[in-house]
Amino acid sequence: MTDTPMDFETLAIHAGTEPDPATGARQVPIYQTTAYVFRDADHAAALFNLAEVGYIYSRLTNPTVGALQNRIAALEGGAGAVCCSSGHAAQLMALFPLMGPGKNIVASTRLYGGTYTQFTHTIKRFGWSCTFVDFDDLDAVKAAIDDDTRAIFCETIANPGGYITDLDAIAAIADDAGIPLIVDNTTATPYLCKPIDHGATLVVHSLTKYMTGNGTVTGGVVVDSGKFDWSASDKFPSLSQPEPAYHGLTFHEALGPMAFTFHGIAVGLRDLGMTMNPQGAHYTLMGIETLPLRMDKHVENAEALASWLETHPAVSAVTYGGLDSSPYKSRVSKICPKGAGALFTISLKGGYEACTKFVGALKLFSHVANLGDARSLVIHPASTTHRQLTPDQQIAAGAAPDTVRLSIGIEGVEDLKADLDQALKAAG
Ligand SMILES: *Cc1c(COP(=O)(O)O)cnc(C)c1O
Repeated sequence: MTDTPMDFETLAIHAGTEPDPATGARQVPIYQTTAYVFRDADHAAALFNLAEVGYIYSRLTNPTVGALQNRIAALEGGAGAVCCSSGHAAQLMALFPLMGPGKNIVASTRLYGGTYTQFTHTIKRFGWSCTFVDFDDLDAVKAAIDDDTRAIFCETIANPGGYITDLDAIAAIADDAGIPLIVDNTTATPYLCKPIDHGATLVVHSLTKYMTGNGTVTGGVVVDSGKFDWSASDKFPSLSQPEPAYHGLTFHEALGPMAFTFHGIAVGLRDLGMTMNPQGAHYTLMGIETLPLRMDKHVENAEALASWLETHPAVSAVTYGGLDSSPYKSRVSKICPKGAGALFTISLKGGYEACTKFVGALKLFSHVANLGDARSLVIHPASTTHRQLTPDQQIAAGAAPDTVRLSIGIEGVEDLKADLDQALKAAG
């Protein structure tokens, strides 16, 4: 390979992989093994000291998963990446080295429903907490940060409403506060947006969605930019001071830009065990090969359908960031110039009841709690994914009772239009 930076399309196919050194296999094999034979006692000791990079045990490292980690780090422009068993696991893995009892994060009100629940209730069991703020109100974001805040968290294109975050503005606030910005880039993918270019420190993904792209894998990843100075304050002792959980190693001093990634493997995966399996990693590697082609088609279909739905008599609102009517249209050229993704909501004039009828009448669109599949998908968040939220929280999250979320697939756009049209008519 040359030193000239390669195109995204090339990296999506080649980054992180090479013909298998043992067999010449061209596609990355599924290394279905738990453990790896040490050459000798010195080799084993060097691996455990992180003095040499290699394979010990598949809870920590595996060649198939490692190839995927390297590929995603290259696509996001990060220093390193750690794959995890799911997107939600990745969120915990991102927070784990930063947090401690009594510490908090500041997060956007516009989040995936499961993330909202994870941050509202579940992280409290660890003694962590989250303050939710409207990320369009930059003063409110600043005001929510206190001495115990250890990270800011948001989504690039927020699920479910087509909201686009002004990542540069939020990153500047994180910078001033000396804390990392964590961006969930699931719905944009690095093809549409690279949050690190906009100042993010950490990027998390649910690989379950567009990255794999066909609804076959549950997986996640944390990518580290390698740019944050963990030692600039005493806020991040797991990285800047001797880590008692890893025989007193000072990760930042010893590993520099790879500190967060190595901590994620050597302590995070070792002790939390939220590891991705090699078969899942293999499917995701193959999915990523066609990510640029798929995202272009997702965006093309979403743009066509969003503009058409906006004129449909049964529809009262369409929240696609790429529409001229969207308050976030001006952020598209800045944050995701190749398009505003393929996930948006429509509101039906007939309210809650029309929504449930509409979902029931669709034939090509599958009614599932998923998004980012090659197939078009639909869900009524208020009765499903956002059911745990109060009505006020549902509205704040863009999941009001009269709102249906569409994840536009890569089928023929006229077929999708016909299906939507017949179901809207059936809904009355
Ligand atoms: C699906 C999703 C998650 C959670 O990912 P899992 O792989 O289901 O655990 C987190 N954030 C966003 C934006 C998602 O779409």
